[in-house]
Amino acid sequence: MDSDTQDRARAVPLALATEAVHAGREDLAGLGLHAPPIDLSTTYPSHDSAAEAARIDAFAATGALPDGPPVYARLDNPTVGRFETALARLEGAESAVAFASGMAALSAVLLARASTGLRHVVAVRPLYGCSDHLLDAGLLGTEVTWVDPAGIADALRPDTGLVIVETPANPTLAEVDVRAVAHACGSVPLLVDNTFATPVLQRPLAEGARIVLHSATKYLGGHGDVMGGVVACDEVFARQLRQVRFATGGVLHPLAGYLLLRGLSTLPVRVRAASASAAELVRRLAADPRVERVHYPSVGGAMVAFEVYGDPHAVISGVRLVTPAVSLGSVDSLIQHPASISHRIVAEGDRRSAGVSDRLLRLSVGLEDVEDLWRDLDRALSAPPARTTAARTPDAVRV
Ligand SMILES: *Cc1c(COP(=O)(O)O)cnc(C)c1O
Repeated sequence: MDSDTQDRARAVPLALATEAVHAGREDLAGLGLHAPPIDLSTTYPSHDSAAEAARIDAFAATGALPDGPPVYARLDNPTVGRFETALARLEGAESAVAFASGMAALSAVLLARASTGLRHVVAVRPLYGCSDHLLDAGLLGTEVTWVDPAGIADALRPDTGLVIVETPANPTLAEVDVRAVAHACGSVPLLVDNTFATPVLQRPLAEGARIVLHSATKYLGGHGDVMGGVVACDEVFARQLRQVRFATGGVLHPLAGYLLLRGLSTLPVRVRAASASAAELVRRLAADPRVERVHYPSVGGAMVAFEVYGDPHAVISGVRLVTPAVSLGSVDSLIQHPASISHRIVAEGDRRSAGVSDRLLRLSVGLEDVEDLWRDLDRALSAPPARTTAARTPDAVRV
């Protein structure tokens, strides 16, 4: 055991804010470094082919990370490994496996489960629009049954390999009781998409979920400049995911791994600061006669959804400080119209029954001053109805 490991073994667990800046960096001082090195190698020299063959065999047999030098960048990468270590620590997981995007991460989970013959998935709407589409279209050969949380137990079949929920859900911020749902799943693994809450506000593994998924593109990166996905889980499932990742190639680039590790270090302060502003905006929106309904989860967070009496497209075209754009979790505030953009790919009837009304707007609150944000929203809420064809015709904003 090195001295860091000894320290951790005998010490009280570190607080999340401390882990956020130290996890995945424990060896740096010993290397004489402060910032984590970025290893851009695609391949690694080895004069010992027999030893390399043994490492490849070991990975093929178990999916465990090979001992010794890396072999090839699609198998593993040290910089990405630091991000995986840190995210696992923040989620209270044994392991984490990073991917090129949130959708690559979800695809790997579905393939890993389906490859064992368990092709049936039970899922609760709403989910992120593309996750909904991937399941509903059966693109990866899975079959989905959509249910309310109360219907999960009845929907399970002998070939059910996975239950999927998002809480708070994109875009309505509807919440599910993870403990109750985990109980209903019995021995079927429960995946919770924790993109919106982040481990700062919610740690689903402690409540009985077996798999946590993140679009790291959102809060984990936090600056709107890196795309990635990550799954936190036990080491047994992580090994299957690494084998799927090696075979299908949805790897996270080392530069993205570096940026995501850097993003994690400010995750607690970013989430807390943005959540405080979001809570204040929720108070003002809820009291505003131009706003019909405000959705804000009990767990808190920096995402707000609200339905307006007027034209939602007018609000989008009226903002000046807030960026009218899809995605979320950046340092700057973003607003979008889910029925036109993020959930466009979901069939209209399914969208409506999941609570995604045509008047719903989704706001991702950033780190700007809350008074400046309110001034911008206040003005946008009074904007005249949008007149340009581009803003009003749903087809023109199809993505
Ligand atoms: C964005 C998002 C995804 C997909 O992640 P990408 O990184 O865009 O592939 C999955 N789940 C949720 C909740 C998201 O918001």
